[in-house]
Amino acid sequence: MKGITILGATGSIGISTLDVVRAHAGDYQVVALTANRDVERLLAQCREFAPAYAVMADPSAAARLAGQVQAEGLAVEVLAGSEGLERVAALPQTDYVMAAIVGAAGLLPTLAAARAGKRILLANKEALVMSGHLFMQAVREHGAELLPIDSEHNAIFQCMPQGYRAGMDAQGVRRILLTGSGGPFRDIPVEQLAGVTPEQAIAHPNWSMGRKISVDSATMMNKGLELIEACWLFDVGPDTIEIVVHKESVIHSMVDYLDGSVLAQLGNPDMRTPIAHALAWPRRIDSGVAALDIVTIGQLNFERPDLQRFPCLRLADEAIRAGGTASTILNAANEVAVEAFLQGQLAFTAIAGVIETCMQSISFVEAESLDTILNADTHAREVAMACINSPERHTAS
Ligand code: NAD
Ligand code: MG
Repeated sequence: MKGITILGATGSIGISTLDVVRAHAGDYQVVALTANRDVERLLAQCREFAPAYAVMADPSAAARLAGQVQAEGLAVEVLAGSEGLERVAALPQTDYVMAAIVGAAGLLPTLAAARAGKRILLANKEALVMSGHLFMQAVREHGAELLPIDSEHNAIFQCMPQGYRAGMDAQGVRRILLTGSGGPFRDIPVEQLAGVTPEQAIAHPNWSMGRKISVDSATMMNKGLELIEACWLFDVGPDTIEIVVHKESVIHSMVDYLDGSVLAQLGNPDMRTPIAHALAWPRRIDSGVAALDIVTIGQLNFERPDLQRFPCLRLADEAIRAGGTASTILNAANEVAVEAFLQGQLAFTAIAGVIETCMQSISFVEAESLDTILNADTHAREVAMACINSPERHTAS
């Protein structure tokens, strides 16, 4: 029986994780569940999974949850804020931590899990993008086990040599082929991009996901963040990674070896597959995902990405090459710009312009400490907000 803490339990990945856990109730014990402010859903999850702890990042939501928990007589201790999140990521009875908070808010609890030497099931790619060096160092120093949940990185991990661990040098690998669907705007005329709405952007053709990552998929910043994520997870430079647009989302990524062998992992686009893989690794368990019907799919297509249409891909590539806090700034500016787009305050095509302005106007420094990283994150958010509020500053791209 393994104890599991689920950070971001009420989100798309959190719900899929609980779905797999529900089907293997004898093998996994839910120790803690966390959310930002969705009291109703977290309460329903507490009723079903009876965790010892429930954390709400938002203190007023935590107070409401505590009231409900008490009224119903549930044996759940309710905690609040980032201390609560960090505490449940490091509990002695927790063996596995699903890191599924969206954005920079996930960094501190995920880092706490690394420092406590847990098995980390990493969905929260932003945590790694903003602090790659520091995070991988914490994983190594504290003997944590890092298993990627992002479907592409999980696929790459599965195609790596036997015995491979995240952060190790992989023997015989020539290239990593990182696939992406190209999102909902892969084929629409470029001149229509400026007018697309949040509803259109979050309607992903193949995957059902949270709002932020759906917008990232539409700008292809998601693939840019994944490029950076892959560099850290697999200890390679960006030149070793080739991004391939594959609209069917059936091949989740590939590894090309020196001898000419190319290994791919295939499956239906359903996050329960990588979640079940990482939960049970190195065993295999049923995820509830239907068997892949390759004959009905019939055809798989591949293209190079269009960097004119997707400038965010170029910005992410520049950030990983620049090193230091460049990726932290990229990530923070992107989070602010995506939120402004979702709120109707920024055009879709201005997202890249805001990020580029931040990257050009803030100097990058060595990302040597957590303070440096958190300061760079805060500063980039301020610059991005100022930029959004003065539109003449982000019309560049
Ligand atoms: P989501 O928006 O559906 O869920 C986010 C979760 O984080 C919710 O439980 C929410 O309550 C919590 N949260 C949000 N803000 C918070 C804050 N400030 N403090 C504490 N908790 C907070 O997002 P998602 O689609 O499940 O994605 C989660 C992470 O997984 C992201 O980093 C995303 O990039 C990654 N990911 C998701 C998918 C997918 O299919 N959904 C695939 C690959 C990677
Ligand atoms: Mg992915």
